[in-house]
Amino acid sequence: MTNGTENKEPAKKSNFIHLQIEQDLKDNKNNGRVHTRFPPEPNGYLHIGHAKSICLNFGIAEKFGGKCNLRFDDTNPTKEEMEYVDSIMKDVRWLGFDWEDRLFYASDYFGKLYDFAVQLINEGKAYVDDQGAETISQQKGTPTRPGMESPFRDRSSEENLDLFQRMAAGEFDEGARVLRAKIDMASPNMHMRDPIIYRIMKAHHHRTGGKWQVYPMYDFAHGQSDYWEGITHSVCTLEFEVHRPLYNWFIDQLIEGDYRPRQVEFARLNLTYTVMSKRRLLELVKEGYVNGWDDPRMPTISGLRRRGYTPESIRSFSDRIGVTKVDGMIDVSLLEYSVRDHLNKTAQRVMGVLNPMKVIITNYPEGQEEEHDAINNPEDPEMGSRKVSFSRELYIEQEDFMEDPPRKFFRLALGREVRLRYAYFITCNDVIKDKDGNITELHCTYDPASRGGNSPDGRKVKATLHWVSVKHAVKAEVRLYDRLFNDEDPGGHKDVDFKEFLNPDSLNVLPECFIEPFVSDAKPLDNFQFERLGYFNLDFDSTPGKPVFNRTVPLRDSWTKEQNK
Ligand code: ATP
Ligand code: MG
Repeated sequence: MTNGTENKEPAKKSNFIHLQIEQDLKDNKNNGRVHTRFPPEPNGYLHIGHAKSICLNFGIAEKFGGKCNLRFDDTNPTKEEMEYVDSIMKDVRWLGFDWEDRLFYASDYFGKLYDFAVQLINEGKAYVDDQGAETISQQKGTPTRPGMESPFRDRSSEENLDLFQRMAAGEFDEGARVLRAKIDMASPNMHMRDPIIYRIMKAHHHRTGGKWQVYPMYDFAHGQSDYWEGITHSVCTLEFEVHRPLYNWFIDQLIEGDYRPRQVEFARLNLTYTVMSKRRLLELVKEGYVNGWDDPRMPTISGLRRRGYTPESIRSFSDRIGVTKVDGMIDVSLLEYSVRDHLNKTAQRVMGVLNPMKVIITNYPEGQEEEHDAINNPEDPEMGSRKVSFSRELYIEQEDFMEDPPRKFFRLALGREVRLRYAYFITCNDVIKDKDGNITELHCTYDPASRGGNSPDGRKVKATLHWVSVKHAVKAEVRLYDRLFNDEDPGGHKDVDFKEFLNPDSLNVLPECFIEPFVSDAKPLDNFQFERLGYFNLDFDSTPGKPVFNRTVPLRDSWTKEQNK
């Protein structure tokens, strides 16, 4: 597991795939070309694991002056939809990558794949099997026991061709027949035991409509698509390592010159407290456990975007985790670190109060107001400063006051003086309560000589509080998020459904928060740091006069901690 605070600098490390490519270039393989692809199946929205693959594939093209295609692996018409295609393109672009004019679909190759299947039939390398899927699977054997040859294995090419054509013409029912490659039922590699390459499906395809009644299997489409696109390095996750001999077998049947694509496997990304399979994410969406694919608690790219993650933070996360051959689990706090690190450098600071407590400055004239200078981003002087309005009635955070403070509580208490950030020193003199004993407001006095929050005579205060002026603040809804799951590996329990580990407190909506009016010009996705509270961004649910903010991540607060010492 990686510690969230290690590796502060997002160094562009060389990984083992880069080294392999360097070697291939030295050997002048494929005439020195480097061409990768990102091949999503449009059956769901992309998640942070896909982001790793996108950064890797497009990153290789950038590093070696090559190209990277976007290719939809749309061979399964029952699960795929246009909505997913559109969301995937949006997400890849948002991450900052460009496939230029190289947008492809496996379905573009349905005709060529069909012709290739016919070629295999004519060469005696494929046959139509009339057995059902279950029988075929029973005959597959086990890794240590060879499989059984199908009774239909030795049909003549003529008969196979006739049957395959009739399958394609829609003459048979789904499941009645399949086309299989004729390889080796005794191969130690199960994938080589006469794999199914075509099946009958009477489904509407999102691009080819009702044209096809037979559809190629993923393994039959993928490598061939690579070959026809001139892909040199077909980067995929480790579970495909055992498919590689089959990938190569198909390429062997297809190849004409020197060029051949090469499959390279790497470890997929797993994150603590997260489920990463599209099937499970779809379940959360369909069954209403979250509010859609872009719910800010989802590990989808659209969810992270809505939550306030920036493309830079996801790319630097991807650099930090590196690329290996060993499956592991990355601490989700490393992802949170990446966005905190980026927003610390770029986010506009404002003050906002989440749980308001009213403060009356009793020695400040009613109706009077004034402005103070506030720094927009201490990490970036070029961002300049802004004015914040001060008046007699303010809000501070409820948590910043205690009537009976324990020894280690250094913030506001009766008779104690603290600093209001950028404004004045104030002292609390009185606590006003309702008939039930709840505190309704605090009466304080300010020291006019401490203007700007500076000590007039060297006297020290132990805390600096954020605040807003009641009259000037904008009312906002703020959504605080916690992890969606309260288990480190929710998908890793054999007998317990992952949904059992959903965190019931993953969303906490605060309907009445007050933020500096500076935010009233914000556009959805604009990032802010609310001082002392974390990073927040404006949500799409905002309406005129009623902003809604998401907390991206809490802050590891430095200035209050320092001053609270
Ligand atoms: P899932 O397992 O989440 O359903 P998938 O592998 O079925 O995902 P695809 O659309 O087929 O999803 O994936 C597109 C590309 O993204 C593939 O090259 C795949 O290897 C890669 N990919 C998917 N999940 C991860 C992950 N967790 N880490 C790294 N790469 C991934
Ligand atoms: Mg897949």
